[in-house]
Amino acid sequence: MGSICPRGRGPGAALGPLLGAALALLVALPAVAAPPGLRLVVIDPGHGGTNLGAPSRVHHPVRYEKEFTLKVARKVAARLREAGVTVVMTRERDRDMSLKARISLANRLRADAFVSIHLNATEVPGPTGHETFFLALEATDEAAKRLATFENRDPVAVEGDATAPVPDDAVGDILLDLTRERAHHDAQRLAELIQRRLTPQSPFKNRGVKQAPFFVLMGAAMPAVVTEIGFINHRAEGRYITSEKGMSAIAEGIAEGILDYGRLVNAPRSRPASPPTPGDP
Ligand SMILES: [Zn+2]
Repeated sequence: MGSICPRGRGPGAALGPLLGAALALLVALPAVAAPPGLRLVVIDPGHGGTNLGAPSRVHHPVRYEKEFTLKVARKVAARLREAGVTVVMTRERDRDMSLKARISLANRLRADAFVSIHLNATEVPGPTGHETFFLALEATDEAAKRLATFENRDPVAVEGDATAPVPDDAVGDILLDLTRERAHHDAQRLAELIQRRLTPQSPFKNRGVKQAPFFVLMGAAMPAVVTEIGFINHRAEGRYITSEKGMSAIAEGIAEGILDYGRLVNAPRSRPASPPTPGDP
């Protein structure tokens, strides 16, 4: 059978060179321009490997926090990448990683933000809600203190590792460092912005922004937060935050909060100062 559209004739032929040029242009351009204020973000799925995290009470056989932190982190990373942000995850699979190695990675990469994702639990089930933490030596309350103690258990920490309990003066030195002081201040803003976007994505309580001595945040040279997306050992909330629908909604909230941070806090600082107006003294 002969071609119904002979070579060199028909609409396709005229579009050929144009189409080629358009494709070349598309290839040359990045898929999505980087959003304002965010070059690289490190997302940390809490726990992993032998560090199981909190057990779920809604799954039989029992499933653990480490599985869901990874799933939510992957969703957050996907959403941020769609927006043009470069994302590095501290772990891409179920493996051990010390708390110090996680924040060290973010420091080495000079990340703009570090977000560690966790699911909460209590010895006696009952509480619900999501909360976001930034670093402080003193916990906001008893519940925050107990939570930090649980999250700070680090089976793979090595001797001399900063994730092992450190004397208060050493931690004080870290906090006094100027770069880290600014990062610490920005961490509060990051926590507030994440919490604000997380709240509409969960039908459970907004427990607010809090502070606690999380080892995974110590020594951060960038704003770093721990977000606890809900209680895995509460029947209704545990079911929601481990469901595909719940995890997607929560990941969307976390990602939008990070993008807000870039736009509202980081981007205005990187704008060049406006030139002096003629006539200025
Ligand atoms: Zn955890």
